[in-house]
Amino acid sequence: MKAIIEQLRTLNDIDVRLGVVKRDLERLPRELAEKQAPMKSMKAAIDRAKMEVIRMKVDADSADLEVKAGEEALKRLGVQMDLLKTQKEFEAIRRQMEAQRNWNKENETKELGILEKMEAKTKDIEKQQAALDALDLASSDESTRIEKELGELRARYEELSGQRAKIAPEIPDTELTIYNRIAGRGVVALSFVKNGNCSECYMRLPAQIQNLALIGKDLTCCPSCGRILTAEKKQV
Ligand SMILES: [Zn+2]
Repeated sequence: MKAIIEQLRTLNDIDVRLGVVKRDLERLPRELAEKQAPMKSMKAAIDRAKMEVIRMKVDADSADLEVKAGEEALKRLGVQMDLLKTQKEFEAIRRQMEAQRNWNKENETKELGILEKMEAKTKDIEKQQAALDALDLASSDESTRIEKELGELRARYEELSGQRAKIAPEIPDTELTIYNRIAGRGVVALSFVKNGNCSECYMRLPAQIQNLALIGKDLTCCPSCGRILTAEKKQV
């Protein structure tokens, strides 16, 4: 039984290490995704702003067409003015020209307003893009580092799994089943009798259980936490 306990101890050591590696393998990609989340929303905001600028450009172009058409209309009225015969006709055209000038002025103001907004928006986009680029650069260093770490962890996982696959079949089924039931909870599966208590759950052990564990003829479990009780702690 002592040899079996030694095997179980070795197996548990591997399983505890496997647990740590597995947790890191799950944690690192999650952390990276969390770090990249703000960048995704920044990029979405920049894309939205770019779309807005495109819409503004369409508005500015159509305002520009209005301005040009207005200037043409004014020119035509000017030509008509030169051909007039009566004072009455002159008055009518003069009023039309004044109305046209006001209309043109309105359109110019509108176009200018759109262009100013466009310029401010474009500057804002440039600023946001620069901030995003800086974050992107920092994050790509970070993801390279994490990818490297993940590669090392995967290799470690493979190595430990290989070791486990070698040891586990050597352990008798009964003992292995008991062990797996406890270790499946992802905990240290072996404890030892420490001043009459279980070294893991600190429960006081009945004298009979203590004796059985110390003799180590059969596999003895802590009545409280269920761990496999051994005589003393061994450094692995
Ligand atoms: Zn216990």
